[in-house]
Amino acid sequence: MSSNTLEFAKVLDQQDSFAPYREEFYLPLEKIYMDGNSLGLLSKRAETKLFELVDTWKTLAIDGWTEGMHPWYYMAEQIGDRMAPLVGGKKSEVIATGSTTTNLHQMVSTFYRPLGKRTKLLADELNFPSDIYALQSQIRVQGLDPEEHLIRVKSEDGLTLDEKRIIEAMTEDVALIVLPSVLYRSGQVLDMKTLTQAAKERDIIIGFDLSHSVGSVPHALHEWDVDFAFWCTYKHLNGGPGSVGGLFVNERHFGKKAGLAGWFGSDKTKQFDMNHTMTAATDAGAYQIGTPHILSLAPLLGSLEMFEELGMERIREKSLKLTSFMLSCIDNELGEYSFGIGNPLDDSRGGHLLLQHKEAARICQALKAQGVVPDFRAPDGIRLAPVALYNSFEDVWQTVQILKKIMQEDVYKQFSNERGVVA
Ligand SMILES: *Cc1c(COP(=O)(O)O)cnc(C)c1O
Repeated sequence: MSSNTLEFAKVLDQQDSFAPYREEFYLPLEKIYMDGNSLGLLSKRAETKLFELVDTWKTLAIDGWTEGMHPWYYMAEQIGDRMAPLVGGKKSEVIATGSTTTNLHQMVSTFYRPLGKRTKLLADELNFPSDIYALQSQIRVQGLDPEEHLIRVKSEDGLTLDEKRIIEAMTEDVALIVLPSVLYRSGQVLDMKTLTQAAKERDIIIGFDLSHSVGSVPHALHEWDVDFAFWCTYKHLNGGPGSVGGLFVNERHFGKKAGLAGWFGSDKTKQFDMNHTMTAATDAGAYQIGTPHILSLAPLLGSLEMFEELGMERIREKSLKLTSFMLSCIDNELGEYSFGIGNPLDDSRGGHLLLQHKEAARICQALKAQGVVPDFRAPDGIRLAPVALYNSFEDVWQTVQILKKIMQEDVYKQFSNERGVVA
């Protein structure tokens, strides 16, 4: 049987041990969702937990902090423990708190100490804008000039980064390094182990933004000796819009004072002593700031169960199978329509693919009109994320067929080549 047919996709789906999980999600009606790397879908388990937590507020009021099935006071720690296997950290090293950007601010304000010759922050020119804004502002807080003190490693092709060039940029004037695990446009997975080792050899603190890898790619942060990492939970972890982020701090740093302190960073037995001298938690919990967003943590209680049941190795395996099948369908069907492939073709690709086309904005609009939900990234990128937990091989096959029809029949020309407000 040819490997790019609907028949073959159906066989792959029949053999897929993840198939029952698709039923656990609310798939948008009559749509093929390919945007789980921007906003993951709602699962029934996440919904149930959210309603349970709303109910604790209804029935317990203030006592919800310490009573009920999920006492609110301990939820950030408990969810942190449960996210630890996803990033390869010890339970004590992971906490659910803040957002990607606020956790980055917390880490930089804790670890960035420009001293003597070591004054620079090292990032890359393909980094996510919010991360760059945070780094620039942290440099300004130190009274320094971001133009001079933020180094952005160049990309040769505008899509990927070369680890060798990043390591060359780890010079004696660098105080701190912040890099993505998976690049948000091209989906390249950086070699975090090698980069961390190089940073350690040069005595530089290194942290990673795991927003695009957590829940999609396995990590071994503790084993690699990464100093810190942070991530959001509304992409591959399906925690819902604005769900609470995650933070990893290597246990080597426990006891280091948080740059941005607040009472929820306290030792939990001391917090309500209400002293003006803070007794900080002795683990990653010390880097929390204020009251946890309980209703935005709740969906994770349900969503994480599925990651626990399946394990990251199997999730990664299915994800690679899906993207590999998609690449082979693209290769087979779209050859004549001048698409470029922006993601790495080997296993250094993450959970999504990047198709490039000069008409990308209106091709995305045409896809949406035909029931496929992609995500446009200016100027010319169409991101497609077939997600292990809820996308099927048939979804992948259909997506490429619809795309082919849009190109064959010039359907995209009915739309203007502009982006929408969000994607
Ligand atoms: C999604 C994402 C963010 C978003 O940050 P928020 O604080 O959650 O808004 C930041 N950085 C990267 C790399 C992302 O992928």
